[in-house]
Amino acid sequence: MPNAQHNAAPSGAAKDSGLTNLLGLTRDELEVWVEGLGEKSFRARQLFKWVHQLGATDFQAMTSLAKSLRDQLNGRAELRELPILRDHQSVDGTRKWLLDAGQGNAIETVYIPEDDRGTLCVSSQAGCTVACGFCSTGHQGFARNLSTAEIIGQVRMANRLLDPSGRRAAVSNVVFMGMGEPLLNYEAVRGALQILLDDNGYGLSRRKVTVSTSGVVPFIERLAAECPVALAVSLHAPNDPLRDRLVPLNKKYPLAELLAACRLYLRSGPRDFITFEYVMLEGINDSQDHARELVSLVTQAKLYCKFNLIPFNPFPGSGFRRSPAERVRQFAQTLQAAGMVATVRKTRGDDIDAACGQLAGDIQDRTLIRLRRLDAGAEGLALGSHETSSPHHA
Ligand code: SAH
Ligand code: SF4
Repeated sequence: MPNAQHNAAPSGAAKDSGLTNLLGLTRDELEVWVEGLGEKSFRARQLFKWVHQLGATDFQAMTSLAKSLRDQLNGRAELRELPILRDHQSVDGTRKWLLDAGQGNAIETVYIPEDDRGTLCVSSQAGCTVACGFCSTGHQGFARNLSTAEIIGQVRMANRLLDPSGRRAAVSNVVFMGMGEPLLNYEAVRGALQILLDDNGYGLSRRKVTVSTSGVVPFIERLAAECPVALAVSLHAPNDPLRDRLVPLNKKYPLAELLAACRLYLRSGPRDFITFEYVMLEGINDSQDHARELVSLVTQAKLYCKFNLIPFNPFPGSGFRRSPAERVRQFAQTLQAAGMVATVRKTRGDDIDAACGQLAGDIQDRTLIRLRRLDAGAEGLALGSHETSSPHHA
C-alpha cells in the first residue's frame, strides 16, 4: 500500500506515569527489579523474553508467569513505546514512522527491507547538538535525549507492526543512523545495545548492530571497552579545515585523534574495518583532489576501512547540492584504484523522504504536529524549543 498513512492523536509521550517502563531495563536491571518484588531472578528472564522476543503488549497475556506476578506487574510496570503520529510506506517497501517525543518534538524510525536482511534505522535523540550544516536534524537544534526505553521501543514497534503474527523478527540489523548523535547520549544507547545483543532480548550479533558517529572520541573509546558493535564514522572530509566546516565537532576532536580512536576501536570491535560515511556535496568535498587526499589520510593512519559514499539528500535552506552521479562514480573509482573498498549508498524510500540520516521531511512533519496539536486545542504548545533555538555547537 504505497504512501499509506496512519494518523494517531499525540498523547503526551513525556508524561511520567510513576510506573517502571520495562522496555528500558537491561536483563541485569530487570533481575534486580524482579527480586525487589520478592520474586526469583529467573522470572526476569521469562519476562524479558515476553517483552522483547514475543513483543507482548499486555501483562495478562504472559501466560508462563504466575497470576500473582502478573497482577503485581499491572500495578507497577508498563510497556510504553512512543506514540505513532504517522506511518508511511514507500513503493519500494521502505517504511517510515514518525513518533511523538512529546512537547512538539517528533523522531523518525525507518525500516529498509532487502533480500537477505531487514535493517531498522533508529533515532537516539530528538534533534542534535552537533549541527552539521548538510543535515536536516542538525538544522533543527536539540530538544532532548531519548531514553533506553524510547530507543528499544522503536525496534519492538517495528517487529510487531511488520509481522503482527510475531513468528518472525523482521528486524535483523539495527543502525543508529536516524536522528541524533548516539555517542552524545551514551548511557541510554549502551543500555539499548545490551538489550539488542542479549540472547533473551533481540539476540542480534555485534556485527549486525551499527553505531554511526560524527566522532565523539572519548565515547568511541568507551564503546570499545564496554559494548563493541560495528562502528560507522561520518568522515565527510579529508582534512581538518574542511571537516571543521562540515562537522563542527571536528574542532573539538580533530582527524588525528579521531583516526587514532578508530584504530583502537578495531582491536575490540566485531569487524576488522571501520566504515567511513562520506556525504557527497557538489563542489565542496567531491573533487579528485579530495579523493586522493582521503586515500593518503587513511593510508598514513594505517587504518583498514570501507567507504560508503552517500548521495546528499537536499532540503530547503541547506545551501548544499547533491554531487552529480558521474562525479560520485569518479570519486569512488579513485578510491578503488588505490585499493580501497568504496560503495555508493542506494537511495531508498525517496517518495517518502525516508533514507537513513536524511530526515528532510522532518521540518514539515514537525510543523504538522504543531498544527495538529493546535487543532486539538493543546495549550502552551507554541513552538517546540527546536523551532526557535539556533543549533547548538558541541
Ligand atoms: N549523528 C550520527 C548518526 C546520525 S546521521 C552521525 O552523524 O553519524 C547518519 C548519517 O546520515 C551520517 O553519516 C550523516 O552524515 C548522514 N546525513 C545527514 N544528513 C544527510 C543528508 N542530508 N544527506 C545525506 N546524508 C546525510
Ligand atoms: Fe547530528 Fe549526525 Fe546530523 Fe551531524 S549528521 S547534525 S551529528 S545527526
